[in-house]
Amino acid sequence: MSESQRSAAVIGAGIAGSSAALGLLDAGFDVTLYSDRERASLRNDVPPTGVAVLFGKSREWDAQIIEDIYQYGNTTGISARLYSGDGDERADVLQFNPDFGYEAQAVDVRLRSDDRIGRFLDRGGKFEVRTVDAQALDAIAADHDLTLVATGKGGLSSLFPIDPARSHYDRPQRQLLQVTLKGLDQGDDVFDYRNRLGGRQDLFNLDAQNGEAWLGPFQHKDEGLTWSFIGFAKTDGEWADKFRAVTDAASARETFLDLYRTYFPHDVAEVEKLQTIESDPHSWIKGAVTPAVREAVGVTENGHVVAAIGDTAIAVDPVAGQGAQNALIQVAELVKAASAHDGDFTADWLRDEFEKHWERRGHAATEVTRLFLGDPDYADHLELAFPAAAVNTDVASALFGLLSEPNPLLTLKTRDDVLGFITAVAGEPADDVLARFVPAGEFSTKSTALAG
Ligand SMILES: Cc1cc2nc3c(=O)[nH]c(=O)nc-3n(C[C@H](O)[C@H](O)[C@H](O)COP(=O)(O)OP(=O)(O)OC[C@H]3O[C@@H](n4cnc5c(N)ncnc54)[C@H](O)[C@@H]3O)c2cc1C
Repeated sequence: MSESQRSAAVIGAGIAGSSAALGLLDAGFDVTLYSDRERASLRNDVPPTGVAVLFGKSREWDAQIIEDIYQYGNTTGISARLYSGDGDERADVLQFNPDFGYEAQAVDVRLRSDDRIGRFLDRGGKFEVRTVDAQALDAIAADHDLTLVATGKGGLSSLFPIDPARSHYDRPQRQLLQVTLKGLDQGDDVFDYRNRLGGRQDLFNLDAQNGEAWLGPFQHKDEGLTWSFIGFAKTDGEWADKFRAVTDAASARETFLDLYRTYFPHDVAEVEKLQTIESDPHSWIKGAVTPAVREAVGVTENGHVVAAIGDTAIAVDPVAGQGAQNALIQVAELVKAASAHDGDFTADWLRDEFEKHWERRGHAATEVTRLFLGDPDYADHLELAFPAAAVNTDVASALFGLLSEPNPLLTLKTRDDVLGFITAVAGEPADDVLARFVPAGEFSTKSTALAG
């Protein structure tokens, strides 16, 4: 390290830590990345933290860290369907198939991190394998000009107190099940009865009583093109216990198939083609996220300043796919700011940077998640936007545009704001748009599509 070169320590080598380490190294810092696992173990011995789809805009920040080297898992639209009611009362309510207006990319987060770590090592970064506790963090922070904590939702996050003004929930809002499966390609004929985009689209099935089911093309770290399923079970619905009972990839697949057989039979002929990945016993996860926004700047026992990034700073339920996107935006902007900054990395400086991130993305990421969770604060938005989306594709695109750029949601505070938004996007009065909505009646299936 030259005398003028500044040093940085990054704790945790998930997507946030590996991105920060590579970004800071490329910006001229002398960087040490601390990980509780060896590089190969991060890639092969643990499940991915999540699916980490990058919906559009966040890919521009990601490109500031690393070039796009991925071949599979890109989609340009989504097929959404909403069902409601139980037993004989169950009805196909609404559907829409918007183009995103951007390209989403779903790549195994273990692969993304590994590619960053590889470049970091090739370019002279230092990788130290150890579990960092509060005492070790104090010593590390004493030795470095800048110390970032990226240990995810657990790890060292408890050093950063939860900010009650920004954290809306004290418990998980969904029980989660994720599994990656192989056996379907991304051709035009895959799910073609739902949307002309076929396998270039994601699928989103919503069940008003029980939760949401997302399925989309995915680049698995070894297997390449695969499909990733995420189930989001409402904690008081029928799915939650089924998700909790899963014990391995095979039972995750069975649970996923059972879900489709019972609740989304239209899609069964396609999803039954999906098989487990024998070479990767870690291709599934279950669990739940307690959403939390933390005070992202902390002080160690001897007064050294540390800052939280990624899930350590802001943890959201994955229903709106915001966690990894939020982390990448935070990291890319922090790297630029640190690189341009002349003085010490004081608590005030780091706090200012976190506030800028909160304004730029963090706040909107938490709010769009609340919208897709169906939070009662968004009752008007949901009551108006989903039916409007079903009859107007521009409204549908705008709704899913929020996954890429959630900030416009912050301006939609009242029912009139939402009506104004629908009017502006549709180019005609919102009341006229909504008057055209009638419940779907019956969705097409693989067999009716073939017959038709
Ligand atoms: C089912 C699901 C689906 C998701 N889908 C999306 C999506 O579509 N889009 C999106 O943007 N986000 C999504 N997410 C969220 C996304 O996956 C996470 O936000 C992101 O991966 C978090 O990365 P991270 O680096 O902050 O934390 P982590 O991935 O948790 O990394 C933390 C690292 O720190 C290490 N560590 C922990 N403690 C220590 C210690 N004391 N010392 C050293 N190392 C330590 C851990 O081993 C780990 O390697 C999803 C999440 C889930 C659960």
